[in-house]
Amino acid sequence: MILGCADSRVPPEIIFDQNRGELFVVRVAGNFIEEDGLASIEYAVEILGSPLIVVLGHSGCGAVDATIKYVKEDAQLPGHLPQLVQSIKPAVELVRGKPGDVLANAIAANAAYNARKLAAATPIVSKAVADGRVKVVSAVYDLKSGRVEMVD
Ligand SMILES: [Zn+2]
Repeated sequence: MILGCADSRVPPEIIFDQNRGELFVVRVAGNFIEEDGLASIEYAVEILGSPLIVVLGHSGCGAVDATIKYVKEDAQLPGHLPQLVQSIKPAVELVRGKPGDVLANAIAANAAYNARKLAAATPIVSKAVADGRVKVVSAVYDLKSGRVEMVD
């Protein structure tokens, strides 16, 4: 199963050349874990027996970029967007001051952070991970090359 971004450029079925019925997908802008998404993932793990969860970030992610601007400039955001950036903010904080491209670093960190968070999510996913029934990994899809690189 895939926890991916809502961005229309990153449909997991097309990225991984999969047909209908082959992937269980949860998508939210910024591919982070929240309550309802976690419930869907728990269903995939417990009921469908999904053996692998990929938290899939992507290059040029607008949600992560907006969070960086929000953190840096203390920007005001309309509607429910402040809640969304709060969920992505921990990953942005993790790469603050690190060398390299801030956006690319934050995108990779966000995927890895949410994979760790998901692997530790009680009671269902953490138990399935401990029992070796499911593996949680993180990866980043590159829009230009079409390649998916694993993140640790
Ligand atoms: Zn995105």
